[in-house]
Amino acid sequence: MSNRALYLTAAASVLAAVGALQCSPLIAQDGSGGAPDTSAAIAGANWADTVTIAIDDKAETFRFQSNGIPSHGFAEKYLIPNDVGSMPFSDNAADEFTVVNSAEYFQETPIDATITTRPVYVEDMTDTALGRIGVAVSGAQIFNDYEDPERTIAAMDDNVIHDHVPFVDECNGHTLVDGTNYHYHGIPVCITADLDVAGEHSTMIGVLEDGFPVYGNQGAGGVTVTDADLDECSGHFGVTPEFPDGIYHYHLTADEAPYMIDCYHGEVSEALRAGRPGGGGPDFGAIATQLGITEAELMDALGTSQPPDFAAAAERLGIDEDDLRTAMPAPGGAPGQ
Ligand SMILES: [Zn+2]
Ligand SMILES: [Zn+2]
Repeated sequence: MSNRALYLTAAASVLAAVGALQCSPLIAQDGSGGAPDTSAAIAGANWADTVTIAIDDKAETFRFQSNGIPSHGFAEKYLIPNDVGSMPFSDNAADEFTVVNSAEYFQETPIDATITTRPVYVEDMTDTALGRIGVAVSGAQIFNDYEDPERTIAAMDDNVIHDHVPFVDECNGHTLVDGTNYHYHGIPVCITADLDVAGEHSTMIGVLEDGFPVYGNQGAGGVTVTDADLDECSGHFGVTPEFPDGIYHYHLTADEAPYMIDCYHGEVSEALRAGRPGGGGPDFGAIATQLGITEAELMDALGTSQPPDFAAAAERLGIDEDDLRTAMPAPGGAPGQ
């Protein structure tokens, strides 16, 4: 019997055992059973060689470091919108884009993220902001589905291809307009094609900022997961290959928007609530200085709603709304999400 066949047999018995356990009240469906420990699964995940993972057992976190370049490579050429304010880009003609060669244009982006290994499921949901919402095993970042802070334009629906050159590539990823911060807006199929096994639940492809794992669109038995199978945050409780006792986890889907994760169902820090992933996001100190106010004043005025109410914040700060918007082109840190 090949290793592969052995593995499939083992997986089948695990699934059978799980099927029997699902009626048991011992399995907490609401997370009340306490915070799962993800450290072993994270230590054993399929991280690319370019990714460094350090588990801190004492702090109950892990640190992800990479150069931001995905291990799977990318398309030869990309469309970069000439005017980042001209969304939706799919309406734009070919001459409203610059065609760039990724080999020269794409830039390394040092990613340094510290994420909990004890994620806590909470009833409260927190909207994901533009910018990094998670890290992928390829070394690249996971963004949400939107390109604008108002959450009206989903990147996957706004994709455009002129003369075979894409805005979003076949891995459902691209960089910001300056060639930095390669990120995914949909299932990173270049990763899942390598890791997912037919007939089985998807393999973990990354971790969101709230600490819960994220997967492609294969559910139990390899059945395709659609948006209708998931909660508002595109997650559910269940067994995965890495978590045979079950865990809350997210699925990226391919059927319809959101293809990504719109909200966290895990407990998040105040910084994350304000749209600042740990170790990344916009430099609010610099933005405040530019506006002639303190960072505390800026954070206070922006509040915790996502997207921020720029008009109300500007009025509170006594500054022009346009000045505020210009200083903060997008909560994720750079224009052209
Ligand atoms: Zn699942
Ligand atoms: Zn994007």
